[in-house]
Amino acid sequence: MTANSQWNGQFSRFNLVAKTADCCRTIIRIRDLVIGADNFVVMAGPCAVETEHQLLQTAEAVAAAGAQVLRGGAYKPRSSPYSFQGLGVEGLKILSKAREETGLAIITEVMGEEDVDVVAEYTDIMQVGTRSMENYALLEALGGCGRPVLLKRGMTARLEELLQSAQVIAEAGNLEIILCERGIRTFETATRNTLDLAAVPVLKTVSHLPVIVDPSHGTGVRALVPIMARAAAVIGSDGLLIEVHPTPEKAWSDAAQTLSFEDFDEMMRDLRRYVSMAPAFEAIEPQLLIAGGAN
Ligand code: PEP
Ligand code: MN
Repeated sequence: MTANSQWNGQFSRFNLVAKTADCCRTIIRIRDLVIGADNFVVMAGPCAVETEHQLLQTAEAVAAAGAQVLRGGAYKPRSSPYSFQGLGVEGLKILSKAREETGLAIITEVMGEEDVDVVAEYTDIMQVGTRSMENYALLEALGGCGRPVLLKRGMTARLEELLQSAQVIAEAGNLEIILCERGIRTFETATRNTLDLAAVPVLKTVSHLPVIVDPSHGTGVRALVPIMARAAAVIGSDGLLIEVHPTPEKAWSDAAQTLSFEDFDEMMRDLRRYVSMAPAFEAIEPQLLIAGGAN
């Protein structure tokens, strides 16, 4: 069976994002940054842009440690209406100032289709958060935004549904999509979410899109982030999304999962040897992934 045949119909019907004989790997280029080749890309920064000082300090620290992309939310999807909702356009301006000063590419979340144009004006990569994975009006608007999209897995979404949302963006005209495993809701409460690391080899086998892992939201626990980052590197993730803050315990959002500059630097040094251990997904035939049922 070849990689483009209808191996079980589950994923291959999303023809624009499923792996085929013609397209087994999408490579995304943002100026001199390459995502999805043999490059391991680290996107790091605070959960939210809080102040110019906080973001610029973080940008310098993560760049020095080897990150290639600066993250920071200017529009924050908060579960509580009383939590900090983000600085909006002011936050986008601070992000673009940090890009000028450090040369880092920028990723930030877009929450509504009405904000697509303004966010695309400032950022290099458009992030779709877990709560927006099924916001089809937003996904369609991202089809014409002219920027790569990082699509996070919905916290209750199956991988099939993640690929379906990717297909919506691709159908709307944008093939530059990065998938992100960020943990799903299960019965487990020891971690904030259950980081589904098996999603990486499954997605890399059935789809040509790059896949990255977010162990910060995936665990919600600072001490677990470097360990799960290591695991993500070994199983062939194309990169990581990591929350970092000058004073993590004082972060306005997601404090418990945020790394200090020192922790991040140590994590980056530790990661180097694991990145080279990643498997070759080209060798895996999709039909080998059909899951068994109860026995
Ligand atoms: C974030 O990246 O800060 C974020 C809100 O992520 P998620 O959508 O995965 O919760
Ligand atoms: Mn966050």
